[in-house]
Amino acid sequence: MLLHATDETLTPEPPKDCPLCPRLVGYRNDNKAAHPDWFNGAVPSFGRDDARLLIVGLAPGLKGANRTGRPFLGDYAGALLYGTLLKVGLARGQRDLVAPEALELVDCMISNAVRCVPPANKPLPEETATCRRFLIGRIQALPNLRSLLALGRIAHDSIIDALSLKRGNFVFSHGARHELPWAALVRQLSLLTTEYEHPSAHGRDVRGGSCRCRGKPAETLAGALPRPAKSGMLGWAAG
Ligand code: SF4
Repeated sequence: MLLHATDETLTPEPPKDCPLCPRLVGYRNDNKAAHPDWFNGAVPSFGRDDARLLIVGLAPGLKGANRTGRPFLGDYAGALLYGTLLKVGLARGQRDLVAPEALELVDCMISNAVRCVPPANKPLPEETATCRRFLIGRIQALPNLRSLLALGRIAHDSIIDALSLKRGNFVFSHGARHELPWAALVRQLSLLTTEYEHPSAHGRDVRGGSCRCRGKPAETLAGALPRPAKSGMLGWAAG
């Protein structure tokens, strides 16, 4: 077994009122008092159980996932991510805050390395470590998983730790691709990082709303999904 954790911890989703991180529980309770109509809990992953691609972000945004109860939904980062997934064919429907059921993911799932919103969007290292049990459980519960897309350094490092790999052998950088050795042993699995936060690599200015690459990101991300029975490879997107 390459993944850490004892069998009893390998659940893919925490309870909404998970008690394991006292600081985050306190913050959750503060937000419940201030915004009782918000979700204010450990945010579950969103997507397909047969996904080949798992996208892993840092943690719920206060006014995004912590408010809506869906990873990345409701804030600027989510507008970027879901807009990109729609564009490249990894989502279909409409991105609508009022009707979240109008959007479904295609062949992918979105989760976070830390499932509860942290103050200032900064989880403590021990909180990331504590929540890793759910990342491990999430990875193990995806039988068709082939690729991982890490949105940022903390997500990247938590994935590497979850897979019991050495960070020094899989150094984080924006847009980097890594082939994961255990893919050869268990199944194809790769780690993507990309352009989602660093569109300049594709000549694309997401924040400015312009795009000079005319579909190239779509081709690139689509190409990130490996064909079954071939060795791992990867993609792009996030930073
Ligand atoms: S961050 Fe993860 S481990 Fe910590 S309380 Fe939330 S769900 Fe539980």
